Amino acid sequence: MERNILHSDLNAFYASVEMMLDQTLQGKAVAVCGSTEERHGIVLAKSQLAKKAGIKTGMVNWEARQKCPGLILVPPHYDQYLKYSKLTRGIYQRFTDQVEPYGMDECWLDVTGSTELFGSAMDIAENIRKTVREELGLTVSIGVSYNKVFAKLGSDMKKPDAITEVPSHKMEELVWPLPSSELFYCGRATTKKLATYGIHTIGDIANTPPDLLKRRLGVNGLMLWNFANGNDASPVMHRDFVSPIKSIGHGITCVSDLAHEEEVWRVMLQLTQDIGHKLRLHGLEATGVQITIKDHTLHDKQYQAPLEVPTQLPMELARKARELFHKNYHWSGHVRSITVRAINLIPHGQPQQLNLYIDQQKRERKMVIEDTVEDIRCRFGKRAIYPATLLGDLKFPGTLSHEITMPGMMGRG
Ligand SMILES: [Mg+2]
Repeated sequence: MERNILHSDLNAFYASVEMMLDQTLQGKAVAVCGSTEERHGIVLAKSQLAKKAGIKTGMVNWEARQKCPGLILVPPHYDQYLKYSKLTRGIYQRFTDQVEPYGMDECWLDVTGSTELFGSAMDIAENIRKTVREELGLTVSIGVSYNKVFAKLGSDMKKPDAITEVPSHKMEELVWPLPSSELFYCGRATTKKLATYGIHTIGDIANTPPDLLKRRLGVNGLMLWNFANGNDASPVMHRDFVSPIKSIGHGITCVSDLAHEEEVWRVMLQLTQDIGHKLRLHGLEATGVQITIKDHTLHDKQYQAPLEVPTQLPMELARKARELFHKNYHWSGHVRSITVRAINLIPHGQPQQLNLYIDQQKRERKMVIEDTVEDIRCRFGKRAIYPATLLGDLKFPGTLSHEITMPGMMGRG
């Protein structure tokens, strides 16, 4: 039996929440920026009008202001986004308990078992669209289809505040003309590669012999072929499904470029304070560290390595990050931004092989100290206690970017 899958996407989510909370922003070109002052603040989200004026996510503030002189910059309010994300999910859950979030503003819903009670999939989509609008003052666009991939494509076809149905008999008409880059998991590198074989649209992918795609792109190619042909049986996860966190990253763009390793080290130490905190919060330990360095030309370089022992300790994460930097970065230019990421996470406190070269007692003492630090911060605030190296000018902007990456639920997962 064909399933009824919805993909619901909150339109211009951050900007819409800001405008809903502050009526004076309505009908204006608004951009939510990581930082509204510093020269490196970038656009995180934009309103419909700002989009029309050519504002793009990731644009630097001054660039955005140049493009759209009347643009209003507002700082993000993540607590509000989280709140409205949850409230929206609450609405979805009135119709089905199979609600799988994908980021803060998107969800898949499997409503196959709900049609008896609530009407057709299209009826349910319409009901959701209206309810979200009336109760929360936000708009969604919804794709309705028989699999997750096409439902996601559908939610992108008409927006804001709209519903698009992608039934199986309309696959060739609606899906196949789209550029291959629109297909789930078809990233920039894959899109480029496909183009060199003359494959430009989703239809091209669908009509290429699967063997050929497999030879060129491996299993990934086979998966894309299946997606393009509507063969996607991946289930919508139950709402109680807690997806294990894959990595915890923390990055900043500095207000002025970093010129030597000492500065880089202090930034890394700062970043790992928060990563350590989050690892504790989630009861996880990192078994590896990854760093992404952007130099003044905005070129990205990424390096990663395993840790000697799994850890939550900021100092151990920072040391590994510094080691990676020292080994790999050749100061072709000043450093503009740094992201440190704790990767390959495992549950905290798992039995582990003891490493003879590491003083385990010393580590345990450090962990007790970290526990105390954590406790002090909980009671007196985040800035109550700090490593001495972190005093002074760190070239930090007012805000940092936080990132918790969840594993994809589809395809290879
Ligand atoms: Mg959205």
